[in-house]
Amino acid sequence: MTDTAADPAAPLACWCCGAEKPESHLLRLGARPEAAVCGECAIHLRQRARALGNRRAVARHLHNAANRFREAVISAGLHNRPGIGPALRWINRRSPF
Ligand SMILES: [Zn+2]
Repeated sequence: MTDTAADPAAPLACWCCGAEKPESHLLRLGARPEAAVCGECAIHLRQRARALGNRRAVARHLHNAANRFREAVISAGLHNRPGIGPALRWINRRSPF
């Protein structure tokens, strides 16, 4: 009778791609040590995390630009002008930023 869970040389499955790898080729997650990913998946996850961070940076930049535009419109009094003001408020209500 063999017990694979107790055998440290037995390959383990990566929790990301499912490939079986020896323990020495897997990275354990800090707060969830029972979960392990292979090196290739760790690199892929890092790339995805960087892409997510870049998208957040772009969204933050657009949000700040929209706020600067709103401040410029208000300081110029354009929001009170007939025709332009309602159009700007209409755009502002639909703006995701
Ligand atoms: Zn993997």
